[in-house]
Amino acid sequence: MLIVMKSSATAHQIDAVVEAIDSVGLRAHPLAGATRTAIGVTGNTGVIESRRFESLSGVAEVIRVTKPYKLITLDLRPEKTIVRVGDASIGGNELAIIAGPCAIESREQAVAVAEAVKRSGARFFRGGVCKPRTSPYTFQGLGEKGWTIMTEIRERFGLKVVTEALDDSSVESVEQYCDVIQIGARNMQNFSLLKRAGRSKLPVLLKRGMAATLEEFLLAAEYIMAEGNYNVVLCERGIRTFAQHTRSTLDLGVLPAIRRISHLPVIVDPSHSGGTNYMVGPLARAGVAAGADGLIVEVHNRPETALSDGAQALTPDEYVQLVKEVRAIHELTAPSTNALLETNAVASG
Ligand code: PEP
Ligand code: MN
Repeated sequence: MLIVMKSSATAHQIDAVVEAIDSVGLRAHPLAGATRTAIGVTGNTGVIESRRFESLSGVAEVIRVTKPYKLITLDLRPEKTIVRVGDASIGGNELAIIAGPCAIESREQAVAVAEAVKRSGARFFRGGVCKPRTSPYTFQGLGEKGWTIMTEIRERFGLKVVTEALDDSSVESVEQYCDVIQIGARNMQNFSLLKRAGRSKLPVLLKRGMAATLEEFLLAAEYIMAEGNYNVVLCERGIRTFAQHTRSTLDLGVLPAIRRISHLPVIVDPSHSGGTNYMVGPLARAGVAAGADGLIVEVHNRPETALSDGAQALTPDEYVQLVKEVRAIHELTAPSTNALLETNAVASG
């Protein structure tokens, strides 16, 4: 159920509706929009008696939700969510660039890459400290020393730092040392991890599972939001198909499909989808043209010696050039992307 408040509703009226929802053992998720607040209601397994809420003051409308998701939808918030990370953001007018090495390998490597990230004007540095590797015998991440390096990058370069959490204890470390929790493709349906991230104060970057449908992807985001964390960024990183010429097939069609349903920002990962250096540029440019709010790109100062994902890493110079190109594309295509969102919001509202 979704309770849409009148645009004139006062904070006091919104609080009273939230209390009424709590008092029947349900959970209220008030999301303030540009013109009105809507309150998503979760916690019910059956149909909720809606009449008791309709008569509360300040309520414009009570809508029964028939779709599987309640909180990620444009019905709840008809304009795009801007996820704010301090003074940086994802989903606003500026294209968000998140870049860095697949794994933090040493202080010297992290600093060399962070210099390029800073030079490009990006606001986010991503480096893996705990790596989910297919083989148990390959490099699993630096662990303890990696957290110190991330903190140093954050302080020295003023970049927001993003890293992947694999389990509850690594969520705690990310909370202690970093700014954004990444949940990787392999964990997209790790429901206890999603719930834990949902109880965090940090924004969550959620990657699409390799075999996940759009509905499963959005429901994974719903898990995080249902716990009260509304700062979720979706990431299309490619899915498994019969194609063997790429590491994963980048599903660009998912971008307009998400825009039609959800207010959440969505970024593209051209590195894990392409899998090879020469593919990253074309896929990044296509992703931005198709409406991505940002990119997550792997960069290494010496790709040939990388301990993970070296084949897909851009060199610092290649990366800086790519950022210039995608910014130019974004400037040209952002008005069309925004217009599409507005049309969808009107259709769903
Ligand atoms: C990564 O970002 O380095 C990573 C492992 O990505 P994914 O979860 O998309 O495979
Ligand atoms: Mn990687």
